[in-house]
Amino acid sequence: MDAKELKEKFKLTDEDLKKPLPIPTKWSKPFWEGTKQRKLLLKTCKDCGHIDHPPYLYCTECQSDNSEWVQASGRAKLYAFAVNEIGVPFPFMPDLPYITALVDLKEGPRMVSTIVECDFKDIKNGMALEVVFDDVSPEISLPKWKPVKKWVTKDRG
Ligand SMILES: [Zn+2]
Repeated sequence: MDAKELKEKFKLTDEDLKKPLPIPTKWSKPFWEGTKQRKLLLKTCKDCGHIDHPPYLYCTECQSDNSEWVQASGRAKLYAFAVNEIGVPFPFMPDLPYITALVDLKEGPRMVSTIVECDFKDIKNGMALEVVFDDVSPEISLPKWKPVKKWVTKDRG
């Protein structure tokens, strides 16, 4: 059902169909500033090396607040996914069907995201992914994931 049909059927306004967006906090702001610049930044503990994602005020491993933002490779593997077909909030209905994915970053953390630029039939757990950034508002760019293109090599047989 597209936005126009939703509005008519359920008497919704444009405001009702606005998607909720991340609200940067003082400890997540650098992450969201990074995605605007096409960088995936991970909050890394300078004392024990633990990466907290989502970022938090202090290291959840050793409680240190001595941290730095390190740019991730932008590579990941798909851990699990679901095809959403029904039962989502109104703002997401025009996007149906879409993928909700758990993505394991090369650096370790697991991220909740989505898969784009891929036929659903080709999505498989364990597939190699690379990050892309979707500018959903002037302030927010969401990291999403697409399959890593395989190099086609000529058969030298
Ligand atoms: Zn630590």
